[in-house]
Amino acid sequence: MKETELLILGAGPAGLAAAIEAVKAGSKVTLVDENPFPGGQIYRQFDRGFKVSDAKVLGRDFGRGQKLLAEFERVRDRVDYFSMSTVWGIFPNNEVTLLLQEQSQRIRFQKLIVAAGAYDRPVPFPGWTLPGVFTAGGAQRLVKTQRVLPGEKILLAGSGPLQLALANQIVDAGGNVEAIAEAGTIENWFRLIHASRGQWQLIADALKYIWGIRRAGIPMLRGHIIVEARGEQQVEEAVIAEVDENWRPKPGRQRTLIVDTVCVGYGFTPSTGITRLAKCEHQYDPLQGGWLPVRGKNMETSNPDIYAAGDCTGIAGSMAAIDEGRIAGIAASCSLEKISPTEADRRAEPSRQRLASRKPLLQVLNEISMPRPGLFELATDDTIVCRCEEIRLREISEVLLQGAVSMNEVKRLTRMGMGNCQGRMCAPALQEIIALQKKMPPADLGSLTPRPPLCPVPLQVLQES
Ligand SMILES: Cc1cc2nc3c(=O)[nH]c(=O)nc-3n(C[C@H](O)[C@H](O)[C@H](O)COP(=O)(O)OP(=O)(O)OC[C@H]3O[C@@H](n4cnc5c(N)ncnc54)[C@H](O)[C@@H]3O)c2cc1C
Repeated sequence: MKETELLILGAGPAGLAAAIEAVKAGSKVTLVDENPFPGGQIYRQFDRGFKVSDAKVLGRDFGRGQKLLAEFERVRDRVDYFSMSTVWGIFPNNEVTLLLQEQSQRIRFQKLIVAAGAYDRPVPFPGWTLPGVFTAGGAQRLVKTQRVLPGEKILLAGSGPLQLALANQIVDAGGNVEAIAEAGTIENWFRLIHASRGQWQLIADALKYIWGIRRAGIPMLRGHIIVEARGEQQVEEAVIAEVDENWRPKPGRQRTLIVDTVCVGYGFTPSTGITRLAKCEHQYDPLQGGWLPVRGKNMETSNPDIYAAGDCTGIAGSMAAIDEGRIAGIAASCSLEKISPTEADRRAEPSRQRLASRKPLLQVLNEISMPRPGLFELATDDTIVCRCEEIRLREISEVLLQGAVSMNEVKRLTRMGMGNCQGRMCAPALQEIIALQKKMPPADLGSLTPRPPLCPVPLQVLQES
């Protein structure tokens, strides 16, 4: 078994920033990520077969990513870096298990920083399993890393800033966006403008995206959601509807668009499998994506050996992820007695200040784009909710009528959440569906109990572990 002082899970903005600060403080760092290259979601790198001749075409995010990656390169020879390695379990005695080239590897850590990011939040609606329906993040990955367009006539439906970014990325790659159905509406412009004060980088990004959408002539339909995707073998048309403040379709306000692709992006779900498996305390916050680890000001969880930073603790964007990662890397190094508490506070202070200054804007943006109940009333009895186990809404409603009241009861009675994704995709929707049918707050339903392996692994790996 390998032993390390500080294990960092995830080489996205948060994990990279944590590694940089921890190495600078003198900690011995092991960094693990399932991707071939560091960068995470937003700074995801091209496969090595691609050559970038004009970096400007790839936008500001690419440039910012290059800056962080260059900072990481300067300390990389002091980091034990496991790429293409997936963490599938965490056990007592501070042990983590990795899947590395079909082999199992155990690592014992003194301190762990979880920086596992977030993933798309799929929403079940009639036709959402048709070929041609993508999650927004999936489509973005195609465009960003492979320069492949997801289709020819594309509808974006969802809420939040990713829609703006994705529309620009598709247009820049030569694609055709037919319309953007944006569910969120801005009721209080004054509050948004007030909260944006000082956030010049974010404002510049937003204006650039909005200008790109205007220039391409893409209709931006505010207060609209997708209610159905139709087609025989794949998407041929999409039905969108104008909605009220709870995102319930207004009668007679539907229309049909001829499209072959729908990219659906109603926000993200924090990746909490590891922190929940480690039995860290969690709380439910719908504004930030659901269940989140409870943390102190140094990003420490309720387990004194485990820290958590970035999107896996609530959706806050890459700049917040970097600052949280830096604080976690410094604090973990302080608890390893590499630097004094006074020095740790001095190093962490600039990040703390930046995080505090971005909070008001984040709050307003999350309030605008947080999914509302109408979205989870779109599925009909026949709609599949759990894709891995092919569980339809009818089967869920039946067990709820029979008396099931928690996420785990529905799981046991239907096999919902027991497939390949282990509930990563279906659990957030299931939580909202049960809450609506039972008229209970989502937080009272608990969460699906995570069990190792968190992701599919070959049987041989379990035998070795
Ligand atoms: C699909 C998607 C698209 C986005 N698009 C944009 C955008 O266009 N513009 C924008 O400003 N922001 C975007 N964001 C938000 C932005 O990417 C994040 O705020 C930022 O990347 C958060 O950084 P992070 O380090 O917390 O997580 P991430 O960047 O997600 O990094 C987490 C890393 O951990 C790895 N990981 C997770 N679990 C394991 C495991 N068990 N074993 C090994 N490795 C693991 C992941 O593969 C990933 O590399 C997007 C987010 C998502 C999820």
